[in-house]
Parts: sequence; C-alpha cells; structure tokens
Amino acid sequence: MKLHEYQSKQIFSRYGIPIPKGRVASTASEAKSIAEELGGRVVVKSQVLVGGRGKAGGIRLAKDPAEAEQLATQILAMEIKGLPVRKVLVDEAAAIGQEIYLGITNDRAARKPVIMVSAAGGVEIEEVARTNPEKIIKSHIDPLLGIKDYQTRDIASSIDLPREYWKVFGEIVKGLWQAYSDTDATLAEINPLVITQDKRMVALDGKMLIDDNALMRHPDLAEMRDTDEDAPAEIEARKYGLTFIKLDGNIGCMVNGAGLAMATMDITKLFGGEPANFLDIGGGAGADKVAAAMRIILSDSNVKAILFNIFGGITRCDEVAKGILVAMDEVKPKVPMIVRLVGTNAEEGRQLLSNAKMITAETLADAAQKAVNAAKGI
Ligand code: GDP
Ligand code: MN
Repeated sequence: MKLHEYQSKQIFSRYGIPIPKGRVASTASEAKSIAEELGGRVVVKSQVLVGGRGKAGGIRLAKDPAEAEQLATQILAMEIKGLPVRKVLVDEAAAIGQEIYLGITNDRAARKPVIMVSAAGGVEIEEVARTNPEKIIKSHIDPLLGIKDYQTRDIASSIDLPREYWKVFGEIVKGLWQAYSDTDATLAEINPLVITQDKRMVALDGKMLIDDNALMRHPDLAEMRDTDEDAPAEIEARKYGLTFIKLDGNIGCMVNGAGLAMATMDITKLFGGEPANFLDIGGGAGADKVAAAMRIILSDSNVKAILFNIFGGITRCDEVAKGILVAMDEVKPKVPMIVRLVGTNAEEGRQLLSNAKMITAETLADAAQKAVNAAKGI
C-alpha cells in the first residue's frame, strides 16, 4: 500500500525527522488560509500516488496566499499520470542548498534491508541510478542490530556530507529506519532530504510503501489507504478477502493457494498462454467467495477462457463447485471454462459440475493446454 507524501512525512515527524510546517487542503480557499497561517513563501504540492509530480507541474512555489490559492486551483484541476489530484499539501517553502536522496528498502538478494543514499538527490535520481549508479551508496542493515553511529558516519563521509551535518543526518537515518521497521514498510524514502541555505536538514518529500500482508497489525495505517490508484477489480477482491492481481493476458486463473496459483501461471505460460490474473481464493473459500472471484475475473473483457485449478485440502471441491454454479447462474459467462479438481470431495464436485458446460481435465498440464487452446479458439 502506498502512502501519500503528507502521510509519510507525518510518520517521519513522529520519529524525529524534521519536516516543513504545513497542512493538507482539499480546496483552493483552504490552501489560501493555510498559506496565511504559515506566512511567507509556500510550496503547493499535489498529493497523488505517483512519482515525478514536480516534472509534471504538480509542485509549485507561491510568493503569497493569493498565489497559493491560484496555484491550488490549477493543481486541484490536474490529472497526473492518469490520477486526479484531490488534495494539495501546502508547506512553508524551503530555500534549498543541497538535495540528498535517502531511502530504505528490502534487498531481497541480500535478505536484508538496505539504506541507499546519494548526494545527487532530487527529481533526477532515476537518471542518476541509470547513468551514474556509483553515485548511489548502499549500506545493509542487520535487523537485529539496527543502525549504529559508525554506520551513519561512514555513509555521511562517503557522500562527502559536511561534518557539521553528520549528527543530524545520523538521527534522520535512524529515525527513518525505526519508522520503516515499526510500520512494516517495504520502502521509506526521502527525496529530497535538503540542506537549507540557513543550514538545517529537512525532509521535503516523503514516500512510504507498507506491506499489505502486515496491515492487519496496523489498523491506523490501513485506514490511510487511497484506492484511486488501484484497479477496480483489486478493490473488489480485497472486500472479499481474495488476493487478486490483474495481469495483461487472456486466461483467467482461479486457484486456491498462492504457490499453486504461481505454478498454474507458470504452466500456462509454458504452453504458450498468458494469464489474465493472479488469484488466490484462499483456504476454506466458500461458494460466495468463489462466485465473487468469478465475477471479478469475468469483469475483464480480455479474458477468453478461465482455468480453475483447485486442490481440495481445507477448501472442499464441492464447495468450490457450488460457487462456480452460483456464479454461472449470475454472470452467465460466455467463455470456455476448464476445470481441474483434485482432493477433498473432488468426486462430489465433479458430479455437481457435470451438467454445467465445462471442460474437465485430469492433470494440471492437461488443464493448462486445454485452457491455452480454448483461449485461442481452438
Ligand atoms: P516529486 O517530483 O514528486 O518527487 O516531488 P518533490 O516533493 O520531491 O518536489 C520536486 C522538487 O521540487 C524537489 O526536488 C525540489 O527541487 C522542488 N521543491 C519541493 N519543495 C520545495 C521548496 O519548498 N522549495 C524549493 N525551492 N523547491 C522545492
Ligand atoms: Mn521527490
């Protein structure tokens, strides 16, 4: 789950990371009154869940409240990379001396979190990563030890940070790590972390990604979710407790168990097909969940065939069959459906489905081949 800049910075601030004074507004007149409260120059910042807002014209400096109001009107009418701007953050403007990049994420290959830092921060960081990757310093974190002072000093010296900032930089890195680990984040990023002309270090931008699978431990964070950016089918799936990820292919996959779902997608590709989705209906899914899953798969007009691969363990095959029948009654699918049922109550399941017009398969390979052919109209 992505957090907005203003949400991420509020979290950072709780961990002692200095952020600019400011507040979020949904209307231009609110933006104006925030600018009046702050006094002086402000920056009006679109709050959308994509990067590159600055380059898209979604970050603008205003010299007074009247201009803040005018820019907020413009920005609130914008769409950035297809996402409507519904809120703006109005922050006191900073006079920037230097822009630093600071981020923490998981390095899967190293099986550890990693700190990434660059003295060449700001809106061109992706370009820097491409053309001058050596300008981005990486330092792994031992999750049991956390971050030690020598580590932040080492990083500070590698990016030639002037010595007077080492202490505050160290505190910011530690704060970011604490925020990252406490929230079960997969990314916590400050770009830019600036040194202002009056020699303060401030987090001007903030970005956090929270691990969806940990959200049950963070009801306060789960509430912050903005669904603007999610595919409608994914929002619907979340309501039913289904794990669904939309993909670009044309073979809908309905599977119980994440590992089995991955295997089903792999074998579909092996036989020359392209899955339209990843879907794990979970263990013990009842008929209503199966019906919801089928509606979600069929809401994608690219889907030319559906492959059901059910291993009846905790999930009983007859329950799944009932769900399929309920859903067929409701949605009247016109695409061919291939079903492979094995395990608990498989025979009962097959009997229930014998009147439905479904293509049955004995093995997964057989099912995948049939699905690939069906999607091609063979
Ligand atoms: P992003 O483009 O979505 O990453 O949005 P940022 O919040 O990082 O803003 C983009 C750029 O706008 C920053 O890298 C800064 O150069 C500039 N910027 C943001 N806030 C301020 C500010 O308060 N003062 C000044 N002078 N520039 C700012
Ligand atoms: Mn940024």
